[in-house]
Amino acid sequence: MHSPLTAFITLVCTSGVLNLYLCLYVFLKRHNYRHIANYFILYSASITIYCFAYAFGLMATSLGEVKFWTAAQYVGLPFSSPLGLLFVMKYLGMKITKKSLAALLVLPFISLLMVSTNDFHHFHYRIFDIDPVQGIPYIYQEVGVWYMIHGIFTFACMFVAFLLVLSRWKETARVYRPQLFAVMCGQLVPMVTAFFYLTGFTPPGIDPVPMVLWLSSLLYLWSINSSRLFTLMPIAKDAIFHSINDGVIVLDESYRLIEFNQAVKRMLPKLSKKLFGLEFKQVWPILSGAPLPSKLEPADFQREVQLTVEDARRTYQVRTAPLQQAKGLLIIFTDITEIKRLQLRLESLAYYDELTQLYNRRAFFQKCEEAFSEARRIGSPFTVILMDVDFFKNVNDTYGHHIGDQLLVHVAKICRDQLEEDILFARYGGEEFVLGLKEKTSWEGWEIAEQLRKSVEEHPLRTTDGLVSVTLSCGVAEAEKVPGETLNLVLNKADKALYAAKGEGRNQVKTY
Ligand code: GH3
Ligand code: MG
Ligand code: MG
Repeated sequence: MHSPLTAFITLVCTSGVLNLYLCLYVFLKRHNYRHIANYFILYSASITIYCFAYAFGLMATSLGEVKFWTAAQYVGLPFSSPLGLLFVMKYLGMKITKKSLAALLVLPFISLLMVSTNDFHHFHYRIFDIDPVQGIPYIYQEVGVWYMIHGIFTFACMFVAFLLVLSRWKETARVYRPQLFAVMCGQLVPMVTAFFYLTGFTPPGIDPVPMVLWLSSLLYLWSINSSRLFTLMPIAKDAIFHSINDGVIVLDESYRLIEFNQAVKRMLPKLSKKLFGLEFKQVWPILSGAPLPSKLEPADFQREVQLTVEDARRTYQVRTAPLQQAKGLLIIFTDITEIKRLQLRLESLAYYDELTQLYNRRAFFQKCEEAFSEARRIGSPFTVILMDVDFFKNVNDTYGHHIGDQLLVHVAKICRDQLEEDILFARYGGEEFVLGLKEKTSWEGWEIAEQLRKSVEEHPLRTTDGLVSVTLSCGVAEAEKVPGETLNLVLNKADKALYAAKGEGRNQVKTY
């Protein structure tokens, strides 16, 4: 056997073996490569058939044998490039309809038919004979009409696949680009070789494509193995990465910025690819205008940060998660602005009266019990005042409920403005208010109540229906320094004093 022929056969067999290996590898691990498994297995199987049949063809000793192995080659060859295209489409996450599948596979079937029946019509090869100069197994061939169609179709499939991969280059994250490049080269290598073959630049009588397919196979093999970090294909991973609502920043093992998703870009608009490669402690001040609040480790790092984004104050919960295999770090941002807002709102509803924005009864008791206990503990005086608006029902009946509401707000505001910060002032219910006075005697309480009563009397509410004036009746009681004294008992005494104030004609302050 000629030595170049031995080299050809070796190369073709190498391609065959590598493709067979790839085919079996992906078949056995198909659960890991669910997205592409079917098409890739068929693709590599078709190339395997092509290569081995071609290798056997190169070992043939008669024209009959060459023709047989050529027909055998066509069980794989015409299917390989459309299957390659289908694999690439799947890899890129494109949808494959039944129609496009049928359209892509009908021509290869015709090619197979054409080659196996070529002796009857010579549509594929016009002439197919032993090369008169080089002898068997070299072939002298003149191509027929169908061969041209088959050639153009094969070439077109590879070209489209190549263009599809190329079109995703920009949007593919940097870390996945080597994989994408490998897939692109996997298409490019046979395409360029086929181009030279079809244009007559390669040695006559020999198809060089199966001789270079081992290179494509190696590239695919590498590409498949390098995706062990995740089992999904890169584009799919990218789609997930960018579609989640949480913002994600990826740091490498020395905490340099290497990737981020679109959600975090919305949260931190100053984040850009220009910052790639910088250490995160340099990146954070650019993003937030403040130094990194603490070390990113340990793994259970969790804190809230407040940032101004597009003139709005937003709250993010930030946590980190180590990337075990890649030794990097994920920083995950969750926008909790709405949750925080709701939390504050709920707190406000729980503690504040919605109409007057004073403490409500519940908050008053909570805070006043504390102050009362403290006063008892240190033996300082403690006084409460109960205030009730006089004839308030008449206001509602005369001016309507909404004016009644306005009047309650008005009274609350007048009183609040007169009082020192540390005086507990709350809406006790309806048109009643309550005050808790730390370190004040009943006499001091009386003075405060009298001051409030006068102010309210002197400041009627201005409404569209004219001035509406009301008065207050107040009851004052001081805690007695005796065992068993409670806040409730003091409030009862204040209530009795208030009742007396009402009974004696209203608009006055009575002390128990
Ligand atoms: P008195 O001088 O004896 O206290 O007479 P009054 O009319 O103020 O007392 P009464 O307890 O009979 O009536 C209180 C009224 O306050 C009855 C109720 O409709 C009204 N009221 C209670 N809460 C509100 C409120 O939030 N808004 C309005 N507009 N009215 C309220
Ligand atoms: Mg009342
Ligand atoms: Mg009243």
